[in-house]
Amino acid sequence: MNIRASVIVSVVAAFLAGATAGAQSKLNLVTSTEDLASITREVGGDKVAVIALAKGYQDPHFVEPKPSFILAVNRANLYIAIGRELEIGWLPPLITSSRNAKIQPGANGYLDASLNVRILDIPTGQITRAMGDVHPSGNPHYWLEPGNGRLIAQAIRNKLSELSPADKAYFAQRYDDFDRRLAAAEKRWDAAMAPYKGTKLVTYHRSWPNFMERFGLEVIGYVEPKPGIPPSPSHTLELIDEMKRGGVKLIVVEPYFSLRTPQAIANQVPGGKVLILAPSVGGVKEVTDYVQLFEYDVNLLAGALKQVVGK
Ligand SMILES: [Zn+2]
Repeated sequence: MNIRASVIVSVVAAFLAGATAGAQSKLNLVTSTEDLASITREVGGDKVAVIALAKGYQDPHFVEPKPSFILAVNRANLYIAIGRELEIGWLPPLITSSRNAKIQPGANGYLDASLNVRILDIPTGQITRAMGDVHPSGNPHYWLEPGNGRLIAQAIRNKLSELSPADKAYFAQRYDDFDRRLAAAEKRWDAAMAPYKGTKLVTYHRSWPNFMERFGLEVIGYVEPKPGIPPSPSHTLELIDEMKRGGVKLIVVEPYFSLRTPQAIANQVPGGKVLILAPSVGGVKEVTDYVQLFEYDVNLLAGALKQVVGK
């Protein structure tokens, strides 16, 4: 994309040079995912214009860069990344070719949202290729836990206050409001999930360790034999056996994976059921912000658990 990209950047730069000053009153923010964009909007309110690169219905490990991404990243005051190598396949070349010194990793306008949150699955010992697409710095799907969402919001509040000190009180007040609404919702979600503590289930990808830990559910296996590796017949047979032995019925699938193998597994397991949950804002059209994400997933999951566990 290099020659085309640089032509686009030149055209865009010329256009921006002539753009009105009105747009400059807001901070231009770009985030890797819609979850980060939603939390940023909560805290930044009308002082920020936010663009998310990966859509919630896409696998965030594999995102096809578009020319519009270069425009967005080129004019950003701040880039907020998930980190923990989630974006390793697509973000580094985009940042490098953005011609924007402010948002290079290590610069003031680059925020890695993972630095102050609870990270699970940090591997111990040596990592080999045979382990599949394992992230050496831990599981990057950490936003799927509201406590981590709060910590992300704090990091964003601090960074926005640093970039726009005059609006510090505004960001603090917006954060406090988000924190209050999230805390009230968390009580609801914890209550809805409480009857199912200790229930075992299976997920397609290892997207849910923080979510399942929070709500006390136990993931006993994955449809993928290893992270990022497609299902294989031998692994599928082992998983079916394990589910039968443990009386495990529920298979949680992210919306961007094929339902073929999960459905085949569910058909072999007594009472087996496939449930599509949204791993991100925008993963399904009902989920339009970060609080809605848990509202949607918790309601759906509690409903499915009620059916399979019968509480
Ligand atoms: Zn992953």
